[in-house]
Amino acid sequence: MSEEKNKYCPYCGVQIDYKYTICPSCGKPQPKIEGIPPTHAVKRKNPALAAALSLLITGAGQIYLGRVLRGVFFLGTVLLLGYLLEDILTFDELMIVGIAFSVISAWDAYSIAKKINE
Ligand SMILES: [Zn+2]
Repeated sequence: MSEEKNKYCPYCGVQIDYKYTICPSCGKPQPKIEGIPPTHAVKRKNPALAAALSLLITGAGQIYLGRVLRGVFFLGTVLLLGYLLEDILTFDELMIVGIAFSVISAWDAYSIAKKINE
């Protein structure tokens, strides 16, 4: 009978028992988010924006998505690689490594945003 044992269906907004995995009202399967009204159930992120941010600054998209450590890791790795390879590679080769990392970072940010929005 407790109020806390209810959640809201994100599809039709009806309050249902938290134990239901399928909404008895609209029949849709329920995500594992409990007790949050449908309008606040999912904080949507823009995958294109996340990817663009990471393209500009490696790791920035991850930070935008709240994956701060992951973003710092990406940025740290690319800076460290640049430092370590500075004397080994030519400037052009370093640029290619940097761009490759930006693309990987952008793709990673895009995937994370997609997962958040699921
Ligand atoms: Zn429903």
